[in-house]
Amino acid sequence: MLRSLHAKLALALLGLLGLVGLAYVILTVTTTRFHIQEVTQSLNRSLAADLARSQPLIKSGTVDKAALKRVFDMLMVVNPAIEVYLLGADGKLIAYSAPPEKIKRGRVALGPVRDFLAPGAKLPIRGDDPRSGSERKIFSAAPITEGGRLQGYLYVVLGGESYQSVAGMLETSWIMRLGGGVAAASLALIAVLGVLLFAWLTRRLRRLTARMESFRSNDPARPLTSGAAAPGRAADEIDTLALTFDAMARRIDEQVAALEEANTLRQELIANISHDLRTPLASLQGAIETLQMKDASLGAEEKRRYLALAHKHSQRLGRLITDLFDLTTLESEDRQLHTEPFSLAELVQDVAQRFRAMADEKGLSLEIDIPLNSSPVEGDIGLIERVLANLTENAIKYTPAGGRIDLGVHGGAGRISVRVRDTGIGIPADELPRVFERSYRVGKERGGGPDGAGLGLAIAKRIVELHGGELLVESEPGTGTAFTFDLPAARTT
Ligand code: ADP
Repeated sequence: MLRSLHAKLALALLGLLGLVGLAYVILTVTTTRFHIQEVTQSLNRSLAADLARSQPLIKSGTVDKAALKRVFDMLMVVNPAIEVYLLGADGKLIAYSAPPEKIKRGRVALGPVRDFLAPGAKLPIRGDDPRSGSERKIFSAAPITEGGRLQGYLYVVLGGESYQSVAGMLETSWIMRLGGGVAAASLALIAVLGVLLFAWLTRRLRRLTARMESFRSNDPARPLTSGAAAPGRAADEIDTLALTFDAMARRIDEQVAALEEANTLRQELIANISHDLRTPLASLQGAIETLQMKDASLGAEEKRRYLALAHKHSQRLGRLITDLFDLTTLESEDRQLHTEPFSLAELVQDVAQRFRAMADEKGLSLEIDIPLNSSPVEGDIGLIERVLANLTENAIKYTPAGGRIDLGVHGGAGRISVRVRDTGIGIPADELPRVFERSYRVGKERGGGPDGAGLGLAIAKRIVELHGGELLVESEPGTGTAFTFDLPAARTT
């Protein structure tokens, strides 16, 4: 129970109030005692002087015992709490009203007596109480003189048994009881209000703790926001905490979702790749097994055919693996480009040259459209060649015989663009956005490219993006497809 913040705060408040109450009682008792002593001593300031004046207690250097007895008797009647002592000039007790067995000291220090007699003395002043060894009490005193010579002092100790216990007086005094009662009730009220206030203040913390608990235990039903404050507005520290927690929880959710998506994509990719790798591998194995098993019965021509088949599939496997490796490296964050100025027109010419035989073989015409004085571009020539080769090869693959492929270079403002256009089978509009995804192949059953793994366009797109550009595609099924991208013109110094 004590582990909750509310309980700890409530306990601390009660402890503090207890201390305040105790301090109040001590202060009240002390000041009341002080006040009573001050008032009593002021009221009785001239008591000793009046007594001494009314009865000359020392006559011709000796104590007038009869006069003394009259004084004692008179005071016993007026106030039994008052005790009268006759002191010598040195403070020694000469006579007293108390029974002798009660007297504990034979001398009274004269310092406080002189202070009391000094004009304008600040009261209360406490002096020795002959009835006690150590206690000091308020008193009234007056010098007794005869013939101008100091004979001694009349020393009246004010307050006997009835003044001893201020606590007892507090008990009996109505005003004190009322004061104490009001103070106790106020403290109790503050305690109750404080405990309720802490419960209210810690309520939002408890709610937030519950939300954090449910987040930790991955409760899908947890509310998305704590509702501690309007979103974006923090009223106090608890609101700030709640908003920060909400933001953090959202971020963790997003990251978990992104990780899950990445994991799904990775699994899909592995499935696609293993599928794509399995097909040429199976063909390769088939060719090799046939050669092994039917070695004796196969003629030289058939053997060559199987060997050629094995070679073709091993090449395809090699290409797939290279593409995969390249895409992975290109997608890594810290991929560095080795850029240099080069002539895009010349590169396009080289690529066209490379694929001319392939186009001729398929009965396609391959045209290039290059401006005479095209300015150089800035880029990684090896990677850009890769993009051009991928696009040209695709154009050839997906264009039926009799078709035409155009490779064009066009200058722009600070950027030079390249376009690879064909009059091929085209790509359906709904599939266009997906052709750049890795492993995506439009209608695999179309059989347009048995060699492909759907990685070529993903690689091309990534390379163009690394150069700060965008690979765009326009296509119409049955009419043709055009891929375009641009590169920054090289700075001329
Ligand atoms: P692939 O290795 O299968 O060619 P790509 O990533 O290069 O993989 O291309 C993805 C898919 O986009 C291809 O499978 C093909 O269906 C489609 N495609 C790419 N280029 C063309 C094009 N010029 N004409 C028609 N379809 C194309």
